[in-house]
Amino acid sequence: MTTSAHGNDYDIVIAGGGMIGTSLALALAPLGLRVAVVEAVAQRAVEQPSFDDRSTALSRSTQRMFEAMGLWEEIAAAATPIRSIHVSDQGRFGFSHIDAEEQGVEALGYVVINRVLGNVLQARLLGLDGVDVLCPARIVDIDLAPERASAVVEDNDDKCQTLTCRLLVAADGANSAVRDMMGISAQKTQYGQRAVIGNLLPENKIDHRAFERFTPQGPLAVLPVADDRAGFIWSVPEHDAERVLALDDEAFLSELQEEFGYRLGAFSHAGKRASYPLTLSKAVRLTATRSVLLGNAAHGLHPVSAQGFNLGMRDVAALCDCIADDRGDANSCDPGDEQLLQRYARWRRSDQKKLLRFTDSLVHLFGSSRRPLRTLRNIGMIGFDLIPGVRSVFAKHTMGLAGNLPRLSRGVPLK
Ligand SMILES: Cc1cc2nc3c(=O)[nH]c(=O)nc-3n(C[C@H](O)[C@H](O)[C@H](O)COP(=O)(O)OP(=O)(O)OC[C@H]3O[C@@H](n4cnc5c(N)ncnc54)[C@H](O)[C@@H]3O)c2cc1C
Repeated sequence: MTTSAHGNDYDIVIAGGGMIGTSLALALAPLGLRVAVVEAVAQRAVEQPSFDDRSTALSRSTQRMFEAMGLWEEIAAAATPIRSIHVSDQGRFGFSHIDAEEQGVEALGYVVINRVLGNVLQARLLGLDGVDVLCPARIVDIDLAPERASAVVEDNDDKCQTLTCRLLVAADGANSAVRDMMGISAQKTQYGQRAVIGNLLPENKIDHRAFERFTPQGPLAVLPVADDRAGFIWSVPEHDAERVLALDDEAFLSELQEEFGYRLGAFSHAGKRASYPLTLSKAVRLTATRSVLLGNAAHGLHPVSAQGFNLGMRDVAALCDCIADDRGDANSCDPGDEQLLQRYARWRRSDQKKLLRFTDSLVHLFGSSRRPLRTLRNIGMIGFDLIPGVRSVFAKHTMGLAGNLPRLSRGVPLK
């Protein structure tokens, strides 16, 4: 555990130094606040659950955020632009697509490997003045009093210390223990599916194209990654997941190919595979006294829309906006002020609700073989391709550019 340069009193303590917690600490940097990040798993450890081998599609709004935070140049060096998205429904001839050029943008989004993103974010975090990183260490108890919150932090040798702060942020993921300690429950629905992820080499160049294929078993996304390889996220029924994971490379690629078809030619050279349970989750509240939920601690989505992290980044941007607006000068700012937190919660609820509903309905609409739903999705796909404007509204949502966006999501740096 790193020793604190500021004593044990902070403006903000962040529980969880994963994709969202680390991004929040970096986004807050210009505001001159004293921040501690408490992360349970050692940086660059193979078992780091957030910065692992998944490929994440970053939306335009997330890319703009990293740009405004002065991080994009480094991330871009390892990111692959998505120039078109191709959506198809297994067993149907039609397909829909969104094109970057048609939308007047250079890319609809960018794909980056989580581990690579983590290396960039964590390296920058360690160099920041005013931020202490306590890692590996975990928050094991909290107390939320009107004037100050406190968190008991335990390191790997079972040594404990107590941190106090004006705002405690729970960014400790879907099974957030800090959320439970805040007394906030989450509504959870299991999809009965697992996402099997990995990468492969397609015979034809993927050439900056992303594919979303809906099958009765679950959606299959294929994304462009470095070296002409393709990352895949294949949702398989929970009861079949173990069998699929145990297949040898040849049998695995053959099953995947059957689901995807030959749009990219034959698949070969399968990489390492891993799997994730898929759950829809929504915290019943976003805040408690001097505390707030962020990222997966607040909401968990099916990866079909590739939006969980992007949504969390808009949470980060909105919280930073609320704090920056309240700041006046750094000494008078109270980031845990009740009204500030209420303003944040009102702002974020509608974006979160809409995206959760949209993602969930995609899974159900396209996962069903019932005739009325098949008809509905055929009409939907035809309308999507033929009605001018529908595609650009959808593209705007996919790029994270819809609604009332905070400064950082618009690419405006915080000062
Ligand atoms: C297969 C798959 C593909 C996905 N693809 C995309 C995509 O393309 N685009 C997209 O936008 N999103 C995608 N997502 C969603 C995205 O991965 C998540 O939204 C994102 O990881 C959430 O980050 P987080 O920091 O909130 O939580 P996590 O990533 O779960 O991080 C939580 C961190 O908190 C730490 N922690 C836990 N408990 C404690 C404690 N008590 N004290 C201290 N630290 C603690 C953990 O060690 C971890 O580092 C995908 C998800 C899956 C499963």
